[in-house]
Amino acid sequence: MNVDRYLKELSGSSQRIPTEQSFHHFYLNFDEFKRPIDEIARRSQSMLESIGVTTHAWNTGVDFPSDIDDAYEWVVDMNDELLEWFDESVSEVRKAREEDEEFEEVELENGFGLVRVKKEGGGVGKKKVEAAGTTETTKPKVSFHLATVRKPQDVYDIVVNNTNVPFEHIWLEKSEDDQRFIHPLEKHSYLEFVDKNLEGLVPMKPPAMECTPFKLVEDVKGLKELAAKLRAADEFAVDLEHNQYRSFQGLTCLMQISTRTEDFIVDTLKLRVHVGPYLREVFKDPTKKKVLHGADRDIVWLQRDFGIYVCNMFDTGQAIPNVNSTLYAITTISPPPPPLLFTITFTITITTILRHFVDSLLAASRVLKLERFSLQYLLLHLCGVTANKEYQNADWRQRPLPDVMIRYGREDTHYLLYIYDQLRIKLFALSKESESSENPLVEVYKRSYDVCMQLYEKELLTEDSYLHIYGLLGAGFNAQQLAVVSFCYVSMYPVAKSFQDLDLLGLNEWRDILARSEDESTGFILPNKVLLEIAKQMPVTISGLRRLTSSKLPYVDHNLDVIVNIVRHAIQNAAPFEEAALRLKETYAAKMKEARLKAAQEASVVDAAPVEDGVEASHLLDFEHTPEEESTVIDNSTCVNISETLPFSYDLKEDCSQHEDMNGQVKIKSSCLTLELPQVVGGPIDAIADALSGDSASRNRLNPNEKVKEEIKLDRIRMSVKLEPVSAAVSADTVMIDSSIDSGCMTQNNLLGSE
Ligand code: AMP
Ligand code: ZN
Ligand code: MN
Repeated sequence: MNVDRYLKELSGSSQRIPTEQSFHHFYLNFDEFKRPIDEIARRSQSMLESIGVTTHAWNTGVDFPSDIDDAYEWVVDMNDELLEWFDESVSEVRKAREEDEEFEEVELENGFGLVRVKKEGGGVGKKKVEAAGTTETTKPKVSFHLATVRKPQDVYDIVVNNTNVPFEHIWLEKSEDDQRFIHPLEKHSYLEFVDKNLEGLVPMKPPAMECTPFKLVEDVKGLKELAAKLRAADEFAVDLEHNQYRSFQGLTCLMQISTRTEDFIVDTLKLRVHVGPYLREVFKDPTKKKVLHGADRDIVWLQRDFGIYVCNMFDTGQAIPNVNSTLYAITTISPPPPPLLFTITFTITITTILRHFVDSLLAASRVLKLERFSLQYLLLHLCGVTANKEYQNADWRQRPLPDVMIRYGREDTHYLLYIYDQLRIKLFALSKESESSENPLVEVYKRSYDVCMQLYEKELLTEDSYLHIYGLLGAGFNAQQLAVVSFCYVSMYPVAKSFQDLDLLGLNEWRDILARSEDESTGFILPNKVLLEIAKQMPVTISGLRRLTSSKLPYVDHNLDVIVNIVRHAIQNAAPFEEAALRLKETYAAKMKEARLKAAQEASVVDAAPVEDGVEASHLLDFEHTPEEESTVIDNSTCVNISETLPFSYDLKEDCSQHEDMNGQVKIKSSCLTLELPQVVGGPIDAIADALSGDSASRNRLNPNEKVKEEIKLDRIRMSVKLEPVSAAVSADTVMIDSSIDSGCMTQNNLLGSE
């Protein structure tokens, strides 16, 4: 965390505040000093009063006192409380992380999966265990990648077009000028989908999972029956499970659907080509409500894999706060009035530490889209269900699916319509209360509409793709190192396009071509971390390269000679990259400076924006007082919020530590050489200029400026919260929520029984 730095900056600036005697001297004699101080005092007073109103959030139960002497104690107490809370949270996370580090993954003897076992005295190598969950120290844990799974692309003849051309939405009409695709939703307004009258609506609880009919849809007949049931329903809940590690664009592995009375899971690998024809219509039908949670990715996966375009969707993830508003309010307070100089410094310090902590978490939750965390939050608070989330990251390609994974999949949609009922009732009530023109229910529909309107875009390799490799900007590479990475290398040697001389490519292009032709993720071919490490070290011998890479990267392993040649060529021909390297360094320095300035500004006392208490909060649903919550296991909302916002690496492609070897020949196929490569116009300098000035239209989704910002942000997040990517999420679970299926059921049964 950057706390040290902030603390130093803070104590540095606090030196500039006059000390007690001279403070009074200045205050009494100089109007220029007195005025801003009075203003700060006034603002602080009102801040503290509004914070006082929210003190129930951390159980102090004492409102901000009117007597200034009591106020002093109140602030000190509050600071103590905050510090303690902060301390506890940090040590909790640390403990969980340590626990996590004590475990390692080992392969089961039956070859079916991996389990987590406690490391034995730091010994290396794989240990065999008999079965998961047999001893106390053996904790079952799923792996996101099972090497034993045969690629579904081969098993089910799944054909995809990975060529370097934009995705064609063949199921959509095109505009008259042929320039864009027209989404069926364009004919509708989101207002059409807003519930008109919810007066008297009673949330409909689903029957317990055990009592709910369930169908695993694995054949066309089943799909046909499902389609018929959905045609008869007014609303249904949907979720998808996905794998992005072992294909270039990603594969939808499962589609979970729940109606009010039944659960279905469609094997979308097996039925891939049939899903669209049977289900396209009901998804498009604007009279049927589709309820999803955190649907950003699901929406585009449906388009990509099945040509399904969703009309009339309610995204339950759009209806909940990202973070406890009270917590956030507290961390944006202004300083107390002038007589409390000590407290000023103290409160500023605490405020700054916490604000940056919460900012990091917030940014993380937004950037990394922690939908699953918020679904757990809803399940817990609205359904009294402690959700199991062990499998969120599992390898969903495996077949047959273990029962626990089926159960997990069902859980994701089983309660969703019930959550939808409760949310819209709450939102409806809120919108009637609120006097402002903003209507929270309409707002959710508007955001859900926008989510549906997104169109899937294929990742394209362009002349500036390499600039977006995570970690490149901060790597401080020289020209040679940049040449090793760079795609632009090919622009100097256009011959590589036609000539089978892969050595003339940069590593980035090499792995891209391979990934497309083999239908693998670029992260599986050559993870960013390894790519940058090779560029950094520039090994020119095979043995040198071997020392850098693990044997678990099959494509690297089989192409050591190619990679070494790429490095050699790059070293010899790096001159054109001199300026690019310089520009990149300058840009990085400038961006860092900008980020630091911004952080300092945010932290500065005078700039601290007042908490618009009530304005922010009115958008948020208050779960603290829901009657449904009576039987929940955990009633501390802070707890849930922390777990909800813990950062972790979403990008599995980058986690290369768990690769397992594949069999067979993995050298590049000749077919990949017929790939359509992009037209390269400029050299590396142009690319950087384009990328950094935001002019380039070549990048998908994020414009380069955004990307740079995001990268810096992510850097900051990672610097400030030092947690191992995925394990952080796992640790958070372990600490915050007991994620066992049984307790989830128990809770739900209790709840159902309690009414
Ligand atoms: P969900 O919406 O939670 O059902 O997640 C859908 C898919 O997103 C999963 O099958 C994963 O492929 C991916 N996913 C969700 N959460 C994570 C995570 N924490 N890490 C990696 N992938 C995830
Ligand atoms: Zn989902
Ligand atoms: Mn899911």
